[in-house]
Amino acid sequence: MVDPLSEAEKSKVTFASLGLSEPLLNAVEEQQYTRPYPIQRDAIPPILRGKDILGIAKTGSGKTASFVLPILELFHRTKTVGSRYASVLVLVPTRELASQVADVFQNLGAHLFPKVKTVAVYGGVSINPQMQAVHGADILVATPGRLLDLLAQNALRLSDVEILVLDEADKMLELGFADEMNQLFDRLPKNRQTILFSATLGEAIQAIHQTLLRAPVKIEVVEEATNLEQIEQVAYQVDPARKGPLLRYLIKTHNMQQVLVFASSTRTADNLVVKLSKNGIQAAAIHGQKGQQVRTDVLHKFKAGKLQVMVATDLLARGIDIQLLPFVINFDLPRSPKDYVHRIGRTGRAEATGKAISLITPDDAHHFKIIQKKMGKRVAQIDTTNLDLHGY
Ligand code: AMP
Repeated sequence: MVDPLSEAEKSKVTFASLGLSEPLLNAVEEQQYTRPYPIQRDAIPPILRGKDILGIAKTGSGKTASFVLPILELFHRTKTVGSRYASVLVLVPTRELASQVADVFQNLGAHLFPKVKTVAVYGGVSINPQMQAVHGADILVATPGRLLDLLAQNALRLSDVEILVLDEADKMLELGFADEMNQLFDRLPKNRQTILFSATLGEAIQAIHQTLLRAPVKIEVVEEATNLEQIEQVAYQVDPARKGPLLRYLIKTHNMQQVLVFASSTRTADNLVVKLSKNGIQAAAIHGQKGQQVRTDVLHKFKAGKLQVMVATDLLARGIDIQLLPFVINFDLPRSPKDYVHRIGRTGRAEATGKAISLITPDDAHHFKIIQKKMGKRVAQIDTTNLDLHGY
């Protein structure tokens, strides 16, 4: 990683000094981005110069705007708008991320003229409207499977793609999209700019970046160690049979108005919602078995503060960006310590502080020890044997 700027110089970097034009500066201001995040400071200039990028960064780092802004700037400067086929393709692992990324293109491109048309395509919904919508899209944000379906239906071509973005590439591989991705790479022009973002740099990512990227600029966002310090963590030791009542007790006694609850399975998630609702706590679940419209609506309501409890499984919750969440509850512990940190990291972002609560059954005790060890932090544990949960 090349970083020629001193700390003092870094602090002077503004969106304007990175080379963005008026319409984008206005949009950035509207979004209340006061200063570029490190990943944006590092990625925007090389992307504008046409360089390939290997970015190691997670959700929350500001990675989306780090490719959206320079791509939109390139449209403003030189790229043709309104061609028949898209010149920018963004591949993402999940439907949620597809619509989230498309929204960022739309918001940050709001002041561009002529308008840059962004269309998100993903599976789980009818293909017909998407076949119409992709027509004349400048930027396509797609999950790999649905994009192949659209190609098979001759709804579009990839021959005009000049910029390819792979967002959360590790997740795409993890979800088993390797074959689909390879089929897509074969159909893309060889002469193009490629931007790859991944949360980690595992072997599989090493392999694909060596075949896909040409002399990439490598950018790595080191996660702030201070992040964990801003999160108040606590664990409640509880018998499995008392987990449900304890959850309701915690939500009520802490007067939680916005809480993300993690469950290990879709079944548990659904059961929790039923029980919470019966107890007068407004809740909805978001997981892979829910239809797309329901998922979008639930997330939307929750983000807007209009839904008290959102119950989620890991897979879905990964790419979802929710800022400044006051409470996260691990109803079930995640399997990996990394996922634990990722889950609780949703609270205490930026300058805000948050509280992360985990319910630990006797069977979880050993695993929770490992999580604490990996995280390098001990979590206070509260015994609930004598806690009266009657009526919850
Ligand atoms: P991402 O990592 O792309 O999911 O972005 C995380 C969040 O940070 C999103 O909610 C963005 O709206 C927000 N964000 C991105 N860049 C900035 C910035 N420079 N200043 C403030 N917020 C930002």
